[in-house]
Amino acid sequence: MKIKKLLLIVLLSITFIFGMTSCKKQKQKLVVTTNAEFNPFEYVENGKITGFDIDLIRAYANKNDLELDIQDVDFDGALIAVSTGKSDLAIAGITVSEKRKETMSFSNSYYSADQVVIVKDGSKYENLNQDEILTQLSLDNAKIGCQRGTTGEYFIEGDEDWEFDGIKGAEVKSYDNGALAVTALSNGQIDAVIIDSAPARVLCKSIKNVKIVKDVLLTSEEYAIAVNKENTSLVESLNKFIFEAKEDGTLDAIVNKYFGTETEDVVIDDKSTFNKDNILSIFKGLGNTLIITFTAFLLGILLGVLVSLATNMQTKNKALLALKYLAKGYVMIFRGTPIIVQLLIIYYIVFKSFTGNAIWIGVLSFGLNSGAYVSEIVRGGIESVSAGQMEAGRSLGLNYHTVMKKIIFPQAIKNALPSLGNEFISLIKETSVIGFIGAFDLTLAFRKIANATYDYTSTYLLMGLLYFLLVLLFTCILKLIERRLNHDRIKGR
Ligand code: GLN
Repeated sequence: MKIKKLLLIVLLSITFIFGMTSCKKQKQKLVVTTNAEFNPFEYVENGKITGFDIDLIRAYANKNDLELDIQDVDFDGALIAVSTGKSDLAIAGITVSEKRKETMSFSNSYYSADQVVIVKDGSKYENLNQDEILTQLSLDNAKIGCQRGTTGEYFIEGDEDWEFDGIKGAEVKSYDNGALAVTALSNGQIDAVIIDSAPARVLCKSIKNVKIVKDVLLTSEEYAIAVNKENTSLVESLNKFIFEAKEDGTLDAIVNKYFGTETEDVVIDDKSTFNKDNILSIFKGLGNTLIITFTAFLLGILLGVLVSLATNMQTKNKALLALKYLAKGYVMIFRGTPIIVQLLIIYYIVFKSFTGNAIWIGVLSFGLNSGAYVSEIVRGGIESVSAGQMEAGRSLGLNYHTVMKKIIFPQAIKNALPSLGNEFISLIKETSVIGFIGAFDLTLAFRKIANATYDYTSTYLLMGLLYFLLVLLFTCILKLIERRLNHDRIKGR
C-alpha cells in the first residue's frame, strides 16, 4: 500500500514539474503554409525548407517570440488553407490581387516581381521583343506551360479580374510547379513557359537547353503575405514587421543572401539526387505510406464488417432500418466518387479547422473509402455461403442473428480473404495521392526530391520500382497467409 502511495506521489510530482516547464516554454504557434517548389523564395535543401520567404517569416517569428509550424503543400493548397483558416498565413511568393483579396487579406508588399517567358535554346521566339513574341505565340497556337493557379496561368488564359487579355489561341498547360513546366519545355513537349522572374532564373540555370527571353517583362506584381481574413491583428503585426525590416536592413540582408549582387542568384551546390538527406526522406515517406495503408486498412475492415452487417439486416425496427439505409448510402457515395475528391472534401471542408498532421485525415479518408469496398467484399462472402446453411440453422431453432454470427459470418470472412488481400494491395497504391492534402508519403518524398534536383528520370523510375517491390512483397506475404489458412482448413477436416 505504501509503495502504491509513494508511486502516486512521484507520478503526480513528475506531471506537475512537466506541466510547469511546458507551460513556461510553450510559445504561441503560427501555422504557415507554403509551397517549397519556388526557388529562391521557398525550396527544400538538404531535407529542410529554406528560402527568401522562409527567412523572412522566421525573422518575424523570432521577433515576436512565436513558434513556427511550416506546412509544405501545393500552391493552390497554401492559398486554400489560409482562406479556410487551416493556416494563419501563407507565404509563397504570392502576388497581391483584388481577386485573391475576396478570400484572404494581404500584408504590405515585401518584393516586386514580374512574369517572364522561357523558351528552348535556339527557338524561333528567342530574339523577339514583347509584342512580337505574344503575337507569334498566339499565331502558332503555342502550348504554353505555367504553374497551376498562378499569375502565369491567368496571364496566358486571360482573366478580367487580373486585367489580363490572355494569349488568344494559345493552349495552356498547367503543371504542379515551375520545374515540371520547364522540364517539359526542355523535352520539347511545350513551346514556352510563363513564370515569375526570379524562379525563372534559377530554373534556367538548373535545367538544360532553356533560356529567358531578353527584355520581356509581362506583368508587374507585388509579393505579400496572405493572411486569414478574420485575423486583422496579424496583418497589422506583419505590416509593422515588414516596415521595420525595410528600415533596419533585415530585408536587404535576405535579398543579398538569395540574389547576391543584382544579377547573381545563389546557386545550390549539393544537387546529388540520392544524398543522405534524400535517402532519409525516402525512408520517412515509406514509413508513412505503410502506416497510412495499415491503419486505413484496419479502419476499413472494421467499418466494412459493421456496414455489411447493417446492410444485410432483416428487421422491421425503424431505427435499425434507418441505419441500414444510412449504411447503404455510405457505400453508394464512397464507391461512386473518386478517392481524390473524397480526400479534398474531407480535408478542406469537413475538417476545415483541423491543423494537425494531414496524414490522419488521409487515414480517415482512405479508411472510409476502403470500408465501402470491404463491405461489398464481405457481402460477396456472405452470399457465397450456401443459403441452405441459414435454413439448417433456423430449423435447429437458432434465430437469424445467431446463425449469421456463428455460422454464416465466419465462413463469409474466410471466403472473402483473397479479395481483402487485394484491397490491401490496392490501398498501398491508392494512398499515393495523399500528397494532395500535403501529407508526406513515399510519392511526395520522391516528388520533392525530383523537384529539388530536377532529376526526374532516376527519381520517378526508382519511385515506380519501390512501389512495385512493395506490392510484390505484400503479394507474397498474402499468398503465404492464404496457403497457411487453406492448409489449416484441410488439416482441420
Ligand atoms: N507570384 C505567382 C502568384 O502569386 C506565383 C507564386 C508561386 O508560384 N509560388 O500567382
